[in-house]
Amino acid sequence: MTENRPAKPQTGRHNLDPHLERYAARTTGMTASEIRALFAVASRPEVVSLAGGMPNLAALPLDTLSAQVGEIIAEEGLVALQYGSAHGVPALRDQICEIMALEGIKAHPDDVVVTVGSQMGLDMVTRLFCDPGDVVIAEGPSYVGALGSFAAYQAKVVHVAMDDQGLVPEGLREALQQAEKAGQRVKFLYTIPNFHNPAGVTLAVERRAEIVEICREHGVLIVEDNPYGLLGFDGQTYPALRSLDPDNVVYLGSFSKTFASGLRVGWVLAPHAVREKLVLAAESATLCPPTFNQMIVSRYLATHDWKGQIKKFRENYRERRDAMLSALQQHLPPGCSWTHPDGGFYVWVTVPEGVDTKAMLPRAVTARVAYASGTGFYADGFGSRQMRLSYCYPTPERIREGVRRLAAVLESEMDL
Ligand code: PMP
Repeated sequence: MTENRPAKPQTGRHNLDPHLERYAARTTGMTASEIRALFAVASRPEVVSLAGGMPNLAALPLDTLSAQVGEIIAEEGLVALQYGSAHGVPALRDQICEIMALEGIKAHPDDVVVTVGSQMGLDMVTRLFCDPGDVVIAEGPSYVGALGSFAAYQAKVVHVAMDDQGLVPEGLREALQQAEKAGQRVKFLYTIPNFHNPAGVTLAVERRAEIVEICREHGVLIVEDNPYGLLGFDGQTYPALRSLDPDNVVYLGSFSKTFASGLRVGWVLAPHAVREKLVLAAESATLCPPTFNQMIVSRYLATHDWKGQIKKFRENYRERRDAMLSALQQHLPPGCSWTHPDGGFYVWVTVPEGVDTKAMLPRAVTARVAYASGTGFYADGFGSRQMRLSYCYPTPERIREGVRRLAAVLESEMDL
């Protein structure tokens, strides 16, 4: 994946703010993600949005869920509507262990901490491990929400390149050696091995043991973020890094993509020694994850064919992925390249030299198509020749129309 020169970093403060002098130093790193800034305009109905990453929930069995929610209130309402433990509802933690077994993980429910989405897990893990100036190694590009958490704790992100087989082990080794030489403290490798957001690639199975080994050698923890792992279009799953080295991997999971993102239920599986600190961090952040929502997830898993439901989601996303790849092939001008995801939500596109995807975005929105420009996925301003296209939400027809519009904008940009 090619990279080009940094753009100027944004700052989250501006001098019209009367509270400017009051903010803690750590807020300097807090900036609105480009994607959030885009959200309002990209949500207008005439715009085909290939920008956001909203799961497509249309296949959910709403009637069944509605009945189940009623049952929970009727049968266990006083528990469901009460505070719970910061650790999470025990029955759900057991079920989460069964889910992780699908990716080769043997986990004890005590080591699972339920969170308010995996985003909270990311925030807590960064809070636990990162002092200002500590280094986090992450793929380049990386998940924008993770970059937000790292910035909020003033960690320095060092990106390591990927190819179509995912994170390049040699690049990781070099980054670690360089950081060590520079006397930097590397706290963890943050990685999204499956159906990467935003790159759309998957870490080759042969590379997994190597990456685990490199991190071991250098005494660096791994934070494995895996919200898309069960969304492989052929139903394939990959061995989690956590299954290869349980004592050195913190695993983040989520029900956002396999069930319902609005319930905000995710989890962290931590090495035993870390778990207690994690529960304390969770307690100070939220007291406890929402009991009611956890019970909804738990009842759904216990009574519904959730694997069949995930299969439906996969088929849905696969159809959309196919629509996007064939439209890209048909319409994008020469000199563009893109990844070919086997699962998940995203395609990562590289455009010809001379085109700046961030600068082009307003013109694309005028042409009624939105995407996420690449710079938002790097901590250092790289990515101006890249963009992320999401195929998860629009219909195949809208995806084709969106790509047609995007291609026309790109063509006129290349003529400039
Ligand atoms: N990690 C990655 C890679 C993601 O793509 C997302 C959501 N877009 C999250 C974490 C956060 O997911 P949630 O908080 O909804 O579980």
